[in-house]
Amino acid sequence: MSSSPDIEVDTPGEARIARVLIPIPLPEAFDYAEPVGMGLAVGDQVAAPLGPRLVRGVVAELRPAHGGNRPLKPVAERLDDPPLPPKTLEFILWAARYAIDPPGQPLAMALRGLRAPKPRPERRFIASGTTLERMTPARARVLAAATEPLSRADLARAAGVSSGVIKALFGDGALREVWITPRTQWPAPNLDRPGADLNPSQAAAAEALGALVGEDRFAVALLDGVTGSGKTEVYMEAAARALTLDPKAQVLVLLPEIALTQAVIDRFAMRFGAAPAEWHSAVAPPRRRETWEGVASGEARIVVGARSALFLPFARLALVVVDEEHDGSYKQEDGFIYHARDLAVARAKIEDCAVILASATPSLETLFNAQAGRYQWLRLADRHGAAGMPHISLIDLRAAPPAPGGWLSPILVEAVSETLARGEQSLLFLNRRGYAPLVLCRACGERMRAPDSDSWLVEHRYTGRLVCHLTGFSMAKPELCPHCEAKDSLVSIGPGVERVEEEARRLFPGARLAVFSSDTVASAADARALIDAMAAGEFDIMVATQAAAKGHNFPGLTLVGVVDADLGLRGGDLRAAERTYQLLTQVSGRAGRRDQPGRALIQTWAPDHPVMQAIAAGDRDAFVAVEMSERQLAGLPPYGRLAAVVVSGPDLATLETFVQALAAAAPNATGVSVYGPADAPLGLVRGRRRKRFLVRADRTVDLQGFLGAWRARVKPPGAIRMTIDVDPYSFL
Ligand code: ADP
Repeated sequence: MSSSPDIEVDTPGEARIARVLIPIPLPEAFDYAEPVGMGLAVGDQVAAPLGPRLVRGVVAELRPAHGGNRPLKPVAERLDDPPLPPKTLEFILWAARYAIDPPGQPLAMALRGLRAPKPRPERRFIASGTTLERMTPARARVLAAATEPLSRADLARAAGVSSGVIKALFGDGALREVWITPRTQWPAPNLDRPGADLNPSQAAAAEALGALVGEDRFAVALLDGVTGSGKTEVYMEAAARALTLDPKAQVLVLLPEIALTQAVIDRFAMRFGAAPAEWHSAVAPPRRRETWEGVASGEARIVVGARSALFLPFARLALVVVDEEHDGSYKQEDGFIYHARDLAVARAKIEDCAVILASATPSLETLFNAQAGRYQWLRLADRHGAAGMPHISLIDLRAAPPAPGGWLSPILVEAVSETLARGEQSLLFLNRRGYAPLVLCRACGERMRAPDSDSWLVEHRYTGRLVCHLTGFSMAKPELCPHCEAKDSLVSIGPGVERVEEEARRLFPGARLAVFSSDTVASAADARALIDAMAAGEFDIMVATQAAAKGHNFPGLTLVGVVDADLGLRGGDLRAAERTYQLLTQVSGRAGRRDQPGRALIQTWAPDHPVMQAIAAGDRDAFVAVEMSERQLAGLPPYGRLAAVVVSGPDLATLETFVQALAAAAPNATGVSVYGPADAPLGLVRGRRRKRFLVRADRTVDLQGFLGAWRARVKPPGAIRMTIDVDPYSFL
């Protein structure tokens, strides 16, 4: 072949500089020289020198090197991992700007799936076709089985011979070896399978969502349906539509809890005849790597996962569903701080695709957007089929207090007895782990607190320990008061789920009881097993924290008793009323499914409180209207924007000096108020003192711009940590 001078002559392409983003919290990306002929592209994963090490990075930008630059270190090599799709990269950069964090933080989340090593090639054997002089029946069986590559063990098993026979056949050349890297196949969803027969309102919602998906552009829909109305069935139809319209389309379904993930995975597997990809913390690293690669290649077409699934490298994202969109666990509070619902909308915007926010109790932020017409608002007002909504009533604890030493009002006790007598199930809900939230000394009044944090120690009877729920610190319950040394003087104050269980065992001795809290289930699989057992009617009474309040279907459950409805209202943060409303509505929604009417009894000391009244009346709109007008008056979200700045350090004096300097450095901006510094309600955590600022801004203000400018004006001393939390959910 004659060589063409145009391509054969050594013409090094124009020298280029690669801007490489490294997944660690560095303030910016670094420039490297692109070695001649490497032919990098934006999104490529590379190894690049950082100090003495080679680190993984992603090419964020390529630009021509105009001579005269200072010499740059070259990129060491292009890694043989799939490149990050440009839109995933764009999303990561956007998320970093939003959270006012270095882009290395969200990039680290996006690359987390690659932590496990690549699967190694494995040795397999296949018949070589060489005929043998010495043939035995055993050898013949092996050669007959070795028509496809099999491992030595599998081949021996298939032929019913010892592995020595395989070795000998390989030695004789009748078998040859092949090296195969095992690869997960992602079975394609079967789109010919019919979905459920939708009822008229479900069908209308599914049609509207189908039309939205069909437009193949950015749009947000709120799927607002009471518990049990069939939201999952409806969004599965929207997913089917997206997958049918484009054979490459991918769908992401986000869920707030791992325990819920499994149920939804099962439903998708039933609907599409193939299990979707799964993404959450309990997925083992090798599997995560495969999933990451399957998402990047586009083969994994449906992904069901926790909030971090939002950072996966989708090749062609066509629809995002955020189920239980109001759920507080979508907010990640440490490391990279973000709210997955908000970022899901941002990602959909970047990918130019549709997003469905589903809930029975949407967040005020989402309702605000729906009311303003920015989100399409689809309502499902009734439960599917014959199932009616639960009947909700309040128990006024002032009029019907529990017996001394107990926590259940006689009215609730009576209701549980009736339910037991009918062979139906009850759920007693108390959103507090452990046995008692406080332990104090009867002799001197000392309250047991954590040594290095501002929090009371919670008594856990199962383990006999006093536990700090903030940091996980724990100690054995002492026999003597550590303060006055009185013996047997420590008393447990208030109830946790373990104590309610104790009371229920005493009151209903024959009943089969279970406790469901994060202390009683060690893993997602345990949680699932407990949920399945409850659904199968293996328990009569379940005592549970919010772990059981979310989204599960318990067909035999007809009574929900809320032990302390006032609990969530005491914290007094921005969303206290909203969260209480949501939680109580969700937990009440567990009662009565299929054809069994259910009821919820809510114990409260404040039955006149607007939240309690709204819940009892089942009047969400009234609750929302009151809550919205209060937020509007105060200029709080969704009418205004908030950010928290938390500063902590081991030494109070240094911290004081720094927060004063920080306060003085706050830029002057119209429409922004900075409150603080104030002692954080949790003034001491793990030995670090904490101070807070709260920033409130009008919706029109560029809050990120303000915060970024503010932070740039100060440099915290070494031991001081400064965290910015945009749109905070925790005010501690
Ligand atoms: P939600 O997500 O609104 O709580 P689900 O989709 O979980 O509601 O539906 C509640 C229950 O009703 C589930 O067991 C579901 O399978 C069933 N269901 C809902 N809609 C239908 C339908 N159209 N046909 C058959 N079963 C349905």
